[in-house]
Amino acid sequence: MLSPASNNRRDLLSGSSPDSIAIQLTTRCNLRCKMCRFWKLQAKDPPYEKILSLLDEAYELGARRFDPYGTELFMREDMPEILAYADRIGFREIYVVSNGLLLNRPGLIEKLAAIKSLVIIVSVDGPKSIHDELRGNGVFDRAVANLRELGRMGIKRSIASIIMRPTIDHLQKIVDLASELKIEVISIQPFCLDLAQPDCDHAAFEFRPDEKKIVANKLKDLLKYARQKHVIIYTENIMKHVASYLVEGTNPFPPRGCHIPLKTLVVDINGNVHPCFAISKNMGNVNEMSLSSIWLNDIHRELAIAAMEKKCPGCLRACSDVEGFNTGINNQFRHFADRSAKWAVRYVKKHLLPLNN
Ligand code: SF4
Ligand code: SF4
Repeated sequence: MLSPASNNRRDLLSGSSPDSIAIQLTTRCNLRCKMCRFWKLQAKDPPYEKILSLLDEAYELGARRFDPYGTELFMREDMPEILAYADRIGFREIYVVSNGLLLNRPGLIEKLAAIKSLVIIVSVDGPKSIHDELRGNGVFDRAVANLRELGRMGIKRSIASIIMRPTIDHLQKIVDLASELKIEVISIQPFCLDLAQPDCDHAAFEFRPDEKKIVANKLKDLLKYARQKHVIIYTENIMKHVASYLVEGTNPFPPRGCHIPLKTLVVDINGNVHPCFAISKNMGNVNEMSLSSIWLNDIHRELAIAAMEKKCPGCLRACSDVEGFNTGINNQFRHFADRSAKWAVRYVKKHLLPLNN
């Protein structure tokens, strides 16, 4: 049931539209990385036709960014066709995270090169010895060779890395790699406990409470190094919170609350829809109802309000409200240029100012 405060916000979602749709496309993977449990999931891939119809619906709703997600997305043979379809109907940004190993399948890169809105983000966790220790022998060389090939074919690319005990001393090497490959923007996010295998050696990946200051200082040095090398760390805004997140499990919130549920819809492998990647609550299932009815329903509205009021569980990932963590003067200006912040201003004028007058 909606609270009285929520009733004042009944229009919260009407007139608004999602910026992006995330769809989980597979739980299959060609690797068995030590820090990951997702390759153990055994769910059926959603059918090709269902994915296309979801893209149509999301586009009609207003989404222009597509974030396919899952384990290794190129395990799907129809992946290039799905991406090409999204591009063709008008999605302007498509971000695919991959371990990079399957990209050299015959003819695949040529197909990907024709998809103008596509960005491929390859996971690299450290130099060869660290990456291969976590992911398997020879994985680093193959991933980097394919990153080079993406560049040679003019495909936009990036690197994603995870801050964890085995990698924290080697992240500057990722900056070096990006610089060498002429990759301007990379993403570095903290290790998520819910990504870990329950039976993994937690001490091998996580940090002790007495290491908080050490972690914070290492990340400060990393940011400084990246600036010197002119490599942008997309997740820079969240870095000052990473040490307490990793060491104490503290989930911070952007100063103005999280806007992710107002910008995105996340459809999991079973068709259940969530307001973000971190909240498991199901807002409806796309096999039973339309995306627009889920976008406008009370469950979504309540979760969106909770996120803005910092009453959700919180999280700290590359998919968190990274822009919302901007606090510098220049950054604030950039933040207000952001579509979500414009929406927030409209929201405050429409719903909160009248209450205060
Ligand atoms: S981390 Fe990625 S590549 Fe490695 S097993 Fe998990 S899903 Fe596969
Ligand atoms: S802070 Fe994290 S958990 Fe909360 S709504 Fe935003 S993305 Fe979801």
